[in-house]
Amino acid sequence: MSAELDLWIQGAPRPARGSERFANTNPATGELISEVARARAEDVADAVSAAKAALPAWRSTSVAERADILDAIADGIEADLDGFAEAESRDTGKPISLARSIDIPRAIANFRFFAGAVRHDETGFHRMDHAINYTLRKPLGVVGLITPWNLPLYLLTWKTAPALAMGNTLVAKPSELTPSTASRMAEVMKGAGLPDGVFNIVHGFGAECGEALVSHDDVSAISFTGGTQTGARVAATAAPRFKKLSLELGGKNSTLVFADVDLDEAVQGAVRAGFTNQGQVCLCGSRVLIERPIYEAFRERFIAGVRAMEVGDPRDPATRIGSLVSADHRSKVESYIALAREEGGHILTGGARPALPAPLDRGAFLEPTVVDGLAPDCRTSTEEIFGPVVTLHPFDTEEEAIAIANGTQYGLAASVWTRDLERAHRVSAQLDTGMVWVNTWLMRDLRVPFGGVKASGVGREGGKYSLGFFSESVNICVKLGGDR
Ligand code: NAD
Repeated sequence: MSAELDLWIQGAPRPARGSERFANTNPATGELISEVARARAEDVADAVSAAKAALPAWRSTSVAERADILDAIADGIEADLDGFAEAESRDTGKPISLARSIDIPRAIANFRFFAGAVRHDETGFHRMDHAINYTLRKPLGVVGLITPWNLPLYLLTWKTAPALAMGNTLVAKPSELTPSTASRMAEVMKGAGLPDGVFNIVHGFGAECGEALVSHDDVSAISFTGGTQTGARVAATAAPRFKKLSLELGGKNSTLVFADVDLDEAVQGAVRAGFTNQGQVCLCGSRVLIERPIYEAFRERFIAGVRAMEVGDPRDPATRIGSLVSADHRSKVESYIALAREEGGHILTGGARPALPAPLDRGAFLEPTVVDGLAPDCRTSTEEIFGPVVTLHPFDTEEEAIAIANGTQYGLAASVWTRDLERAHRVSAQLDTGMVWVNTWLMRDLRVPFGGVKASGVGREGGKYSLGFFSESVNICVKLGGDR
């Protein structure tokens, strides 16, 4: 059963001008889900025109009106939670249980959170002896949102909600691999009273659609989440046009486990950090650094924890590991498993495709894989694999653990496991990452700064950081009298 999925421009679905389409398939079965309209530069131009035309009315709405619409969008997604979760699981291959418990609830939470954040937002005020300054926050205008396939609606709403809250109009380009939930959300937005043209979607490929959005003169800012190489390209296109730019990029995150931990708790946390969403979360802890006295005990329990994860049909609520996002992506991940062998690694578990019954035998499944015996600075240990592959490394001193953790080009996140409070603070402060978790992983408060350093990105999202990014701060200085 396949359908046609159109672009969403000026509050309505529409094919691409060139009438071209591309196939969206379920990576767990190879089945066709939909034929998707393939946008090129002329379609992007139409979407930007619609957003530009909608801007004057939308930016003049009150904060209360915008916040109420965000809440109504949250309600609309919640009312169709199962439909959204099924669509997300079908597009990505992720377990339906994950889509139901994490992806879609977070999308709803993003709208509710930013509705509240903008209602309670405050701006700057600076008193001088004979004047006052206050900060006026203006919308940026038409903003382009470019998002990846791993957490499609979760990440798109993380940008959409604050961008709308601040009065911008939007053109979104979801990943070509996972277009369905964005379009489903556009229908909900219309029902929630979002005026036509305020939110538009162009489906298509990076080179012909994403790039046209980044280079369009009427787009004032780009918020991009995706790979580091793509981010560099987006930055190179946007910078000479002086567009405001937020880049959330790749990661190779370390889980640091000290010998004083509660072993079972740390193992459980490290397994979750390594393999959630088939290891396809930018924050996944894909290298685990373990203090030598507990290395063997940790390794044994870690392998047992990984083997206990059910790999299989994403529709089965018991499944913990679904399909990777595509056969191409699985090939990339498999090439790293081959590289790990070449670099002297031992595959402790996994490393192969699981035997599954039809139609899952056509899916992009891969067993969760654990490797040790690798040098911490080899390619497998330092490059982003973005799949269910975790490497284990022993260390002897705190300094060594920090050096290994900091020894990649990335700097997104880390987690530190120890019962020594002083060490937790000391080590956390020395890690070159934008985020550190202590004795937990991916515990999120939506107010905190989210983002990476080094090749993991530029800028921060979250709470006031997102509201700041999606607005232009203007200082108004008013003289109060006196002679200066
Ligand atoms: P990707 O870079 O291939 O694609 C991301 C988006 O950019 C897609 O919509 C794609 O079509 C578009 N794109 C591709 N080329 C473009 C171009 N030249 N101009 C404009 N747009 C272009 O990334 P992906 O494979 O979809 O996602 C996986 C990557 O995303 C991983 O590296 C992961 O770490 C990263 N990621 C980062 C975060 C974060 O918050 N830091 C979150 C999720 C994923």
